[in-house]
Amino acid sequence: MISFGPIPSRRLGKSLGVNNIVSPKACSYNCVYCQVGKTKRHTKEREAFYRPEVIYQEVQQHLRRLKPDDYPDYLTFVANGEPTLDIHLGKAIEQLKKLGIPIAIISNGSLLTKKDVRDSLSLADWVSVKVDAADEENWKKLNRPVAGLTFEAYLSGLHSFADEFTGILCTESMLVRDYNDAAGHLERLARLVKEFHPDKSYLSIPTRPPADNRADAPIAKQLIMAWQFFNNEGLNTELLTGFEGKHTGYTGNAFDDILNITAVHPLREDTMEELLWNDKSDTSVISSLLHMRLIDKVKYKGKIFYYRQYRPI
Ligand code: SF4
Repeated sequence: MISFGPIPSRRLGKSLGVNNIVSPKACSYNCVYCQVGKTKRHTKEREAFYRPEVIYQEVQQHLRRLKPDDYPDYLTFVANGEPTLDIHLGKAIEQLKKLGIPIAIISNGSLLTKKDVRDSLSLADWVSVKVDAADEENWKKLNRPVAGLTFEAYLSGLHSFADEFTGILCTESMLVRDYNDAAGHLERLARLVKEFHPDKSYLSIPTRPPADNRADAPIAKQLIMAWQFFNNEGLNTELLTGFEGKHTGYTGNAFDDILNITAVHPLREDTMEELLWNDKSDTSVISSLLHMRLIDKVKYKGKIFYYRQYRPI
């Protein structure tokens, strides 16, 4: 259950997901808008999850099963939680680099005060760090960090990493209505993001069912305002506000594909239909997975989404 996809990504083209965090979800944050549900293990301590050789072998086998058209542009660490909690992340990247595909990591950036975390991320070709808040109050309200993390240390870690990293650095700011979308905050957020000199700044909105039902997208006026503030700072800014496409990679095993993708990425009904078609399967797989309580479904903004269910351990 380590690799999944590839799934279409506006940022990375075809991205083969690598989920290096063993369930249940472990993260230093518990963001109100998280698409993989509430954080089950709220922690800032790094630990061992999978062995790097196991990650390498699973990704290598997954690549062998893909059709040539599905060969990914990136191997992307997008985890069931925060990928830098994995103490073996650096070794896993070193192994995966043997496959000759660029490595991307989507991180919340909260552990970058630790030199070993910065060293691990520095091995990647493309790194996105989360910058949702310009001040401690908004940070705590939106990202809900684990006790022991401070906003000051988080910013200092981001500065250090931005200074050291030689690959492509992106920031991602999730905008949530009535949390961080006030004009004054958006202006300060743009100024803060500029301090990290990102190659690209993404502004995103919740498009999948969030951990907290109150987390909704800002109204269009606030989004445009955010875009303008970011552009005024000279930031290369892109809005990620839409559906990224319904074609996902498939391996011929619908049961595994659905479990692997939904662990980190809820599947919209039409995406699910295409996946089943490609895997030469049918809706009986969904019924079985629902019956076994391995997945569940929810209606969000008029669309049905399927997401991974974990039994309590
Ligand atoms: S959105 Fe990312 S950082 Fe926030 S709780 Fe979810 S996994 Fe953690």
